[in-house]
Amino acid sequence: MEASMGKQYQDNLMAMCAAGNHDVSKKHGVCGIICAVLLFPCGLICLFTDVEKRCVRCGARV
Ligand SMILES: [Zn+2]
Repeated sequence: MEASMGKQYQDNLMAMCAAGNHDVSKKHGVCGIICAVLLFPCGLICLFTDVEKRCVRCGARV
């Protein structure tokens, strides 16, 4: 019973992803952070361009 509920829950989340409703999280790349520190303040531009958006549920790049 509980297992099928878990599967249904997972299916609902995946259905949201399939419909394009990804749960997006931003992640800064290491290069961007290093540039930001070494080339401050111009490096901040690198920091903001080197951002990876990923869905926390399915891991797809957004
Ligand atoms: Zn997703």
